[in-house]
Amino acid sequence: MKKNQIMIVEDESIVAMDIERSLKRLGYEVPLIVSSGEEALENVERILPNLILMDIQLKGKMDGIETAGKIQKLYNIPVIFLTAYADEPTLQKAKEAEPYGYILKPFEEVELRTAIEVVLKKHSAFERIQNESAEKLNISEEVFGFFIDIVRDYAIYMLDNDGTIITWNEGAVRIEGYTADEVIGKKIDMIYDYRHREVNNGHEMLRNALNFGRYTEEGWRKRKDEQLFWSTTTVTAIYDKKGNQFGFGVVVHDLTKKKYEEEALQKAIVSRDEFLAIASHELRTPLTILKLQAEIFNEEMKRNYEGVPSKSKVEHLIDITIKQIQKLTFLVEDMLDISRIRVGKFSLHKEKFNLRELIQEVIDRNRQRFIQAKCGLPEFIYNDENNTGIWDKMRIEQVLTNVLNNALVYARGKPIKICLKNDEKGVQISIEDHGIGISQADTKKIFNRFERAIDANEVSGLGLGLYISSQIVEAHKGAMWVESELGKGSTFYVDLPMQTT
Ligand code: ADP
Repeated sequence: MKKNQIMIVEDESIVAMDIERSLKRLGYEVPLIVSSGEEALENVERILPNLILMDIQLKGKMDGIETAGKIQKLYNIPVIFLTAYADEPTLQKAKEAEPYGYILKPFEEVELRTAIEVVLKKHSAFERIQNESAEKLNISEEVFGFFIDIVRDYAIYMLDNDGTIITWNEGAVRIEGYTADEVIGKKIDMIYDYRHREVNNGHEMLRNALNFGRYTEEGWRKRKDEQLFWSTTTVTAIYDKKGNQFGFGVVVHDLTKKKYEEEALQKAIVSRDEFLAIASHELRTPLTILKLQAEIFNEEMKRNYEGVPSKSKVEHLIDITIKQIQKLTFLVEDMLDISRIRVGKFSLHKEKFNLRELIQEVIDRNRQRFIQAKCGLPEFIYNDENNTGIWDKMRIEQVLTNVLNNALVYARGKPIKICLKNDEKGVQISIEDHGIGISQADTKKIFNRFERAIDANEVSGLGLGLYISSQIVEAHKGAMWVESELGKGSTFYVDLPMQTT
């Protein structure tokens, strides 16, 4: 095993030789003996001993304490002080130089050996720890830098104290839309200026981060291409080990998708709640009428205890009862259809039939209702007697009934016109009324679930009919839309492909 090399710095040559002898006896090598601090500094780099035994009082300008301080700073070689003076100020000065060891002259060999061994062990342990942490630091810095670079979901960048951008990761390129070349060296206000923000500018954010250590805010911002995105931005003031603030770290998370999802969810909850309110109101109305009729009938029975109420009264009651039960049935059917559509159990049962005949049947069946609504029987125009195709007859009837029912409600007292045209590709049904009409903004909306263009207090309804109808038409690979003008009337169109199988 290589012997430990110990350099001696001692201005008394006899003492130095004595120490050298002792060291050699103890199994150490003595590569050099010098008598001044200057000599020691001159030679230490060449020799690089494992340890230096240093007298405090030396020849030349530098004493042992100063020399030791310089050597430790430059070469990290452990030093043991040797001195004959044990006065308090010298000891204090020696301690301040943070030596590894301290021996008072004259000393025993065993004392010297113990001091040397302890110092060598202490130093090698210290060196090992230093090396390991330096290695760890290097690795973690590298890994960290790599990690920041590849993060794509977060914009991560650093600013100096003046708010100048000094780093820019991949996520920042993606989220903010600027390349590193475009922003590095520029001020934060370039991406956080008043045009891009609702409230603060970049410098206000930095000021907040300085005041509170960390500052987070959420809001709409603009990318380079002016596209809006919903972001959370966290700015953290960064300090060095001595507590001096030297910059800011900024982390931006793009939460646009989540924001839209939350808004959609919120909208869905509101429209579901509205629907439940309307549905319970709608269901309660026929139930109230039914109850009222039963009570009136009961009263009548009591009054005429010797006989039943008159035939006309009973007929009237039955008439009202049937109508209200029918209304309830329609409401429940619509609600069932909605849940069928939702769970994908909405299926078609196709059969071959003549569409012209079906439309005529629907008109005839609702004859009484057209008259009651003072619309008169609809004018029905068609270009072909034979409009035979393969569709779901009941579902198509449901579409026709729904559009006609709406015309009776929203165009009461006005004539209705039905047209049926066909060509080799398909058929088109149009139902035209001259009622209240629909605003441009509502013409698409009314085909959505629960959407209505009219207040529930004005005209009752669930806002489901057109949604279900358009679903039926779409299931036939057709299309349904409306052309309308407020105050003038509406024409609903249904296009159905001419299916033959
Ligand atoms: P409901 O009639 O139960 O409200 P619909 O889905 O059938 O539900 O209709 C949705 C909305 O479309 C109605 O609330 C009404 O505002 C509007 N609408 C439908 N048909 C007409 C029409 N012929 N004229 C004017 N508005 C109409």
